[in-house]
Amino acid sequence: MNALPLILLIEDEENIRSFMKAILASNDYLPLEAGNAAEALLQISSRNPDLILLDLGLPDLDGMELLRRIRQKYSTPIIVVSARTFESEKVDALDAGADDYITKPFGTSELLARVRTALRHAAEKQSSLHSRHEGRFTCRDLVIDYDKRRVYVGGEDVHLTQNEYKIVAMLSQHAGKVLTYDSIIRAIWGINPSSDNKILRVNMANIRRKIEKSTAEPQYIFTEMGVGYRMAEEDA
Ligand code: CA
Repeated sequence: MNALPLILLIEDEENIRSFMKAILASNDYLPLEAGNAAEALLQISSRNPDLILLDLGLPDLDGMELLRRIRQKYSTPIIVVSARTFESEKVDALDAGADDYITKPFGTSELLARVRTALRHAAEKQSSLHSRHEGRFTCRDLVIDYDKRRVYVGGEDVHLTQNEYKIVAMLSQHAGKVLTYDSIIRAIWGINPSSDNKILRVNMANIRRKIEKSTAEPQYIFTEMGVGYRMAEEDA
């Protein structure tokens, strides 16, 4: 595929839109623009973008509602761009099917990094029908062996419990992406999470003690405050 990735910018503020458009255009992406939800839906059906950047504060429709409408019909990766810093909103967006979120104001390099990650995940989903439950995940000194269901740091087995292993494996299969506390708890324990997420926090503390050099400054699993966890990306 030689075509430049087509990225739809859904944003009503012209200043921000042209700023983002300039960044994307100068980094070998083809930006498309929509100033409201109606334009956005038209652009999506006619141009079929590779990625959508969605501002949640739109004039004609709530951005969360637009997100749900897009998800009913399309699996296009969506990065939510939010001016609001409420954590609950990020959680809602991820649970409604957004692939990632960026909070305004953001820098050029952060935007580009998120775009690259989202496009790469989409390409991996497309190309590989083989499950990432096989083989290995390697990030610096951390190795996850999916066949043996074991995790090694610097070649040493760190002896995770079943649930600790499942959490680490799940995060690694979405490396670079935030998984919400609720989605992890539902996947691992099959229960509706309580508001304090204690069961997950306790497991994460144990995981960090086993895999991180410093639990205060983790280098493999990052906390997205009030939202969830994100695994560092695999070595290229
Ligand atoms: Ca806006």
